[in-house]
Amino acid sequence: MKLKRLEMTLQRVAGFSSPRPALEQYQTPAPLAARLLYHALMKGDIEGKVVCDLGSGTGVLAIGAALLGAASVKGVDVDKKAVDIACANAKLLDADVEFIVADVKDQNLTDVLGFCDTVIMNPPFGAQKVHADRPFIDLAISVAPIIYAIFNAGSTPFIKTYTTGRAEIDERVGGVFAMKRTFSFHTQDIQEIGVEILRLKRKK
Ligand code: SAH
Repeated sequence: MKLKRLEMTLQRVAGFSSPRPALEQYQTPAPLAARLLYHALMKGDIEGKVVCDLGSGTGVLAIGAALLGAASVKGVDVDKKAVDIACANAKLLDADVEFIVADVKDQNLTDVLGFCDTVIMNPPFGAQKVHADRPFIDLAISVAPIIYAIFNAGSTPFIKTYTTGRAEIDERVGGVFAMKRTFSFHTQDIQEIGVEILRLKRKK
């Protein structure tokens, strides 16, 4: 599947019906999701691989990975409502994904997920709940040797320090997140947020 086609397909993924600010529920826009996934595909991290999406929301990243030929894909989200929408989205787009309702802080998740080749994720940026992104990073490192994650621009130094001794950032791609007005505290219809897609490689 070509990048443009993937992007057009992912445009059909329905978003959150009633997004919850505390969970930082922002759907990754299709162009950004397609960009992350296509980049990972070109690196050989999707096709035929066991992929996991942490904080899968309504499923855009997980579904895209399945459409690009992942061997299996699991999505994890704490919000049952989001998981229900994700399941409907996967059905609509004929993508084979197993969605699980669970908190990334749940210690049993490492066993439930087992070994993964690649984690893809757009975790909460920690804007509402400080350090909300940390359990995502911790779990990602414990289940997969390769991680693609979207963070807000300027996060690299923090991620670097936080993962010292456990993983290293081996790629960084800048991007823009055109965020639609989602919550009442948003003041513009569309706000462009600078983001960076990081590829983290776990240390042996
Ligand atoms: N990956 C989706 C959603 C990103 S928004 C996309 O790219 O469109 C972040 C997601 O993380 C939300 O769906 C939210 O419900 C989920 N989330 C927040 N805290 C969580 C936690 N502790 N455990 C699991 N999921 C969580």
